[in-house]
Amino acid sequence: MTMTSSGYVGRFAPSPTGPLHFGSLVAALGSCLEARAQGGRWLLRMEDVDEPRCSQSAADDILRTLEACGLEWDGAVMLQSARKERYREVLERLKREDLVYPCACTRRELADSALAPDGAAIYPGTCRNGLPPGRQARAWRLRVDDATVRFDDAVQGRRRQDLAGEVGDFVLLRADGYFAYQLAVVVDDADQGVTHVVRGADLLDSTPRQVFLQRCLGLSTPHYAHLPVAVNAAGEKLSKQTLAPAIDDHDPVPALVAAMRFLGQEVPPDMWRLATADFWVWARTAWQLDRVPRSRSLAAIFLAPNAGNADRDANQRVGGPKGGTGQ
Ligand code: GLU
Repeated sequence: MTMTSSGYVGRFAPSPTGPLHFGSLVAALGSCLEARAQGGRWLLRMEDVDEPRCSQSAADDILRTLEACGLEWDGAVMLQSARKERYREVLERLKREDLVYPCACTRRELADSALAPDGAAIYPGTCRNGLPPGRQARAWRLRVDDATVRFDDAVQGRRRQDLAGEVGDFVLLRADGYFAYQLAVVVDDADQGVTHVVRGADLLDSTPRQVFLQRCLGLSTPHYAHLPVAVNAAGEKLSKQTLAPAIDDHDPVPALVAAMRFLGQEVPPDMWRLATADFWVWARTAWQLDRVPRSRSLAAIFLAPNAGNADRDANQRVGGPKGGTGQ
């Protein structure tokens, strides 16, 4: 446990859908180093709200890999699957205030709607003024207003989104009975006292929804910094689906060093030879958030953990602004 007085509270919030890979390591490392650089606390939250896609074994694997990497979080791990009562309480409050409404629309009925930046349908407002006759509620949606949401991102700069036009009323309780990530993340960040969110830029377009919900609930908005997302040669985000290699728990330093490079940090040669504890001594003094490239995604060519030394030297050259895909 790190004792601090700065008031900065950061967090890492992985979804346990698979082992920790290079893409999630980047978010873990960046959020941790920035919290430590600010004399802050760094919390860990398992985002298993989407229970059908998550597993206990993936959560255990992630914790083991974080420990092997020397990433030390403060306090107990928060588990979203244990917080459903809390989410329900918040939804009930929004119902009482008439800020949410039941929605009967199926995915198929929304298939012709234009798409939001994250690929979801922009909700056309079908059920906004009441369920059509004979239809049952499936999901609950938050009413968005016409105001443009603006925020300043410490990496990506000033951002704005016309929520009504680009996203529409969004789901807080899903048709399958699970709470939506957007609700869980806002309630959890507030309940954990998070002041600074450092995470992947794949969530940049979700942030205005979170800021809007914070305002509906009278919560303060944390500071945001969205790091570039690691993509493969085909431009796809590294994930379980794109078969990103897991981090090697027995030899994590090459991946940590590659993550530092990916985040634009100045890395002397041969750093992959360091012991894990020495990596941290160096990384904590070297880290500078303002060196992180301002792009939403970057090519990551982090090779398999059992790569030979020549390949490891190749890893040393990976990352940095030149690799930007300019998204
Ligand atoms: N659970 C999300 C993920 O693994 C991160 C959410 C967040 O940091 O707000 O992509």
